[in-house]
Amino acid sequence: MGFRDVDRHTFYAGKPQPSAESSGSYETIDPSNGKPVCKINNSSTKSVDAAIQSAQAAFPAWSSTPPIERARILQKAVALLREHNDALARVETLDTGKPFSETSTVDIVTGADVLEYFANLVASGGLNGESFRLRPTASVYTAKEPLGVCAGIGAWNYPIQIALWKSAPCLSAGNCMVYKPSEFTPLHAEYLADIYKKAGLPDGVFNVVYGAADVGGHLTKHPAIAKVSFTGQVSTGKKVAGAAAGEMKYVTMELGGKSPLIVLPDAQVEQAVDVAMMANFFSTGQVCTNGTRVFVPRAMKKDFEAVLLEKVKFVRAGDLFDMDTNFGPLSSKAHYEKVVQYVRHGIETDKATLLCGGPGQPSGLSAELKQGYWVQPTVFTDCTDDMKIVREEIFGPVMTVLTYDTVDEAVERANKTELGLAAGVVGRDIDLCHGVIAKLEAGITWINTWGESPAEMAVGGWKKSGVGVENGRRGLEAWVRNKSTLVEMGGSVPTVFSKL
Ligand code: NAD
Repeated sequence: MGFRDVDRHTFYAGKPQPSAESSGSYETIDPSNGKPVCKINNSSTKSVDAAIQSAQAAFPAWSSTPPIERARILQKAVALLREHNDALARVETLDTGKPFSETSTVDIVTGADVLEYFANLVASGGLNGESFRLRPTASVYTAKEPLGVCAGIGAWNYPIQIALWKSAPCLSAGNCMVYKPSEFTPLHAEYLADIYKKAGLPDGVFNVVYGAADVGGHLTKHPAIAKVSFTGQVSTGKKVAGAAAGEMKYVTMELGGKSPLIVLPDAQVEQAVDVAMMANFFSTGQVCTNGTRVFVPRAMKKDFEAVLLEKVKFVRAGDLFDMDTNFGPLSSKAHYEKVVQYVRHGIETDKATLLCGGPGQPSGLSAELKQGYWVQPTVFTDCTDDMKIVREEIFGPVMTVLTYDTVDEAVERANKTELGLAAGVVGRDIDLCHGVIAKLEAGITWINTWGESPAEMAVGGWKKSGVGVENGRRGLEAWVRNKSTLVEMGGSVPTVFSKL
């Protein structure tokens, strides 16, 4: 398998289609140094339609393949993903700017785990329906049927992981997929398509189209698409869900957050800071579930900030392939500019106290890396709930520290947002931790940790942060529809039309 940075073309009918029409092209950029990587050909409307037709043609045979046989193919793809872990991780590092220490241990690993989980689930009866006797002469059985051709639309922060979290349950359940990666991080998509093909996936079951809003919009509205699984910003999600609703399509929406982390009064300060660091600086803060609103008891504020200032020194920016580097650049120039603007707003307009960081680059970068989209891990303190940096998703390494007097007050303020993706608490009194979690309005919650999202755990946002879940047993239900059959065995049909 050659992991070369070659130009990308729409992928359907089991291969890249260089002869297919494209609607222009652009160069992808390595965000660590601003240099171009390769050319991406945007899929024309005609080639998106061809990809959908390829999926439609593959659907009858794939959906009627027994689940255990589908699982066998997908398990081979899992083995190939693991065999090529480091090569794929290099691609993700080049595309996203995440350090190799992260992509080689998280991104492909967690994607392959989910594919393994859903393949195992369908092989072991996860798609079985139920049957029950309604009365002595009648029974009911149900079947979980695949939906048809589905669209997967990805964000740029976890490219191959998102592609796998969508395609794994989709294909396991017997559907076919047309997948559109983010225009900022498209490199993984052809490699994944290639891995599926080498594993034995029939042509047309997994297809890739390239482009931005216009291509995503065409896919979303296309009458042959039965479901749209979308990951991205709330504002885009509203447009996508709106278009899909107009055609009565199924949707899963994995959207943004502004999640609260509540440090309880009995928490160990070291542990609280470790959790806050993971909740803000992992992946340079480009994680949807980040706990960016950190509520700290007023009495603990001084200690918390002192330990935080010590631990921020452990954030190491630099050569992305050095295993000691644990902090990369932001993933694109546009995103860099957005994050820097928020940091400036925090200083100049919100007038929060800048504890560390700021709009400049981290120190010690080489001349080459200085051309990239690097920002520093930044902490604002003395924040108030009304500040823009506290209310809006920044999606960068920007922590806001807010103090509180009572736990009830912290919970009430934590919930005062339209978003509800994630939330967490740190504390020693486990009863209090559970009690606080029970009151927090979020779909993904953690106690004394942050960020782990195993295949077995269903994840999805509340409020404006999403619709539906991915992963876990419930994640499979999102890719099937129910058919119920009532069987009458008594020989007499209940009817009102038997007498005059
Ligand atoms: P985005 O909304 O800008 O783009 C997401 C995808 O939608 C891209 O592929 C884009 O090309 C496509 N798109 C844009 N306009 C479209 C349209 N009108 N119709 C169809 N598709 C369209 O999001 P982003 O900036 O790439 O990603 C960052 C966001 O994703 C953050 O808000 C983050 O919180 C969120 N996110 C959420 C989760 C989750 O699981 N909840 C996971 C990762 C990222």
